[in-house]
Amino acid sequence: MQTKLPQAFRESKQGKRADEILRSCVHCGLCNATCPTYQVLGDELDGPRGRIYLIKEMLEAQRADNVAQTHLDRCLTCRACETACPSGVAYGELLEIGRDFIEEHGRRGLIDSSIRRWLVSVVPDVARFKRWSSLGRAVRWMLPRNLKEQIPQRSPATPYVFERRERQVLVLQGCVQRIATPRVNASLAALLDSRGVEVVYADEESCCGSLSLHLSNHGETSTTLRNNIDALLPLLDDVEAVISTASGCGVTLKDYPRLLADDKTYFPLACRLVDKVVDVSEYLSRLGLLWDKTAEYQRVAWHSPCTLQHGQRIAGTVEKLLRSAGYELVDVRDAHLCCGSAGTYSLLQPELAGQLRSQKLEALCEESPDVIATANVGCQMHLSGGGNNVPVVHWLELLR
Ligand code: SF4
Ligand code: SF4
Repeated sequence: MQTKLPQAFRESKQGKRADEILRSCVHCGLCNATCPTYQVLGDELDGPRGRIYLIKEMLEAQRADNVAQTHLDRCLTCRACETACPSGVAYGELLEIGRDFIEEHGRRGLIDSSIRRWLVSVVPDVARFKRWSSLGRAVRWMLPRNLKEQIPQRSPATPYVFERRERQVLVLQGCVQRIATPRVNASLAALLDSRGVEVVYADEESCCGSLSLHLSNHGETSTTLRNNIDALLPLLDDVEAVISTASGCGVTLKDYPRLLADDKTYFPLACRLVDKVVDVSEYLSRLGLLWDKTAEYQRVAWHSPCTLQHGQRIAGTVEKLLRSAGYELVDVRDAHLCCGSAGTYSLLQPELAGQLRSQKLEALCEESPDVIATANVGCQMHLSGGGNNVPVVHWLELLR
């Protein structure tokens, strides 16, 4: 694709990268077929090719308008288009540049901006999120449906006494996950303890940064990333891996070196950290041990989060582990499509998120599974709120 970005912008770091990515797109449109929003809305501007054009026009004119903002806001950042693209277009990075430009040059309404600011200040802060969750549960009856569904239920983890072990792994607690689904990390700790590996946590761990990154709040993202590195690094030499059990956090952690590329102090530290970062499915596969299935379920519908299959590109690892434990994985139509959770998307685009969820639940339940399993707290909460009677769990809860 030819570009005519203004020279001054093309010479900036973002302009140079945008130019490279735009030029790699050959405008074939193959990506549209895998785009969830294009499938639902049928509008070229709600597919990746159209969005790439919008970003190109906006950057060339150096002017952000409401049309570009509307269609870029509707993008889930699921990156299914990246997996489908034969030319290797780094759509996710281009979208980040386009969204940053809109935040800097566009005009958001007061309500929209306030909600975004509120999300960045509350969700990544565990104490605040806990307080808001308690308040939300108290007034749940009077909230609109899409908000009601986002309030975590109380689900305490079963207390478990662990022994000190020579082998240790550092597990991220996650800001939402530790409140909404604490059983996930508790299951992992029990599994690993039974095989002689101890789970340790970093006391001062902060959010992985994905929430502020998706909302184009770069100041907050850089601070969060640096804080997290400061918290995790002192434990790094003593552990054999840094594990994320939420694929949405894992994909951001693996991206730390790119996100901190301009920071002379933190870039090398980010590289050191990322050398040890793995998704929990990668770690369990690497251990090469056999796990048992629980007695509760037999037939599993697996929903691979976009952050696992398109972001981290590790499709197949969880499926292999579940099958080797004795589960039957049912066929799921359109398994590459997003469920509509996509971080804060379900709050900011409730209608589209609801449509995508209905479609996803229909596809997941076609073969009448006993349970739906996934790998990210956001997908788990979103799918659980869909009014379906098939339970939705994190796949780790299915291993014994
Ligand atoms: S992003 Fe890739 S698949 Fe989509 S139009 Fe461009 S080259 Fe084709
Ligand atoms: S990231 Fe997902 S929603 Fe956005 S354009 Fe690509 S496929 Fe469509």
